[in-house]
Amino acid sequence: METIPVKDLLPIPELTAARRLLVVQPHPDDAEVGAGATVAKLARDGATIAYLTVTDGSMGTEDPAVDQAELVRTRRREGEESARLLGVAETYWLGFPDGGTLDPAQVRAGITRVVRQFKPQVLMVNDPWLPYEAHPDHRIAGLAAVEACLFSSFPHYCPEQIKEEGLAPHKVEQVALYLSAYPNTYIDVSATWELKLEALRRHQSQFTPEILELLSFYLAAKAREQAQGRGFEMAEAFKVLTPTHLHCFEEAWRV
Ligand code: ZN
Repeated sequence: METIPVKDLLPIPELTAARRLLVVQPHPDDAEVGAGATVAKLARDGATIAYLTVTDGSMGTEDPAVDQAELVRTRRREGEESARLLGVAETYWLGFPDGGTLDPAQVRAGITRVVRQFKPQVLMVNDPWLPYEAHPDHRIAGLAAVEACLFSSFPHYCPEQIKEEGLAPHKVEQVALYLSAYPNTYIDVSATWELKLEALRRHQSQFTPEILELLSFYLAAKAREQAQGRGFEMAEAFKVLTPTHLHCFEEAWRV
């Protein structure tokens, strides 16, 4: 009998087919670093895109003189500007305190609410299984977003959102993880690379000109390396899976 490879039983969906995309980020600026050029490309190709930022970014300074409430306002403005530049249509802010105090169940419920409001076909988020990721906000927010993709279609999960807030269960078709150590999808972002850098420049509170130069150099080198042998110049890489891959599926890390 002919054997069928497991990966052919459950095909990896096409990220470029995304028409409605929710991009989740732990802090304002993470999505630009990991996926900004792809967000701009998909928006140019006609996708409707929303951003969801989990924390308020209030830890994002090494200067003790910076007022945190002021920093939150600044980062929100920078995030809004950057999102607009990339062609993002809507922004959601959960406003949890930045810096390692996230409650996983609360974050999962908050992301589920936005999934049920915006009804994305694809949810994009940082890969929570990135080895050596030490930032708890990245691990918790990433995992909560992926969990929300499993639970948002269940009417008995956060039922108050359905009974009291008038929302309906919603099934996400595809999960795209940025900043992944196990990518399986490479997007040609040669045409929108400059836009990504322009979006990163909007986060003035986070990147001094020196840091920005270093970051841009690193990201470009990585994008060229990821594009090698694929017939284009610059690539952003993602781990794309279906929600089915994300439960009791041993091959998920290598498909
Ligand atoms: Zn971050």
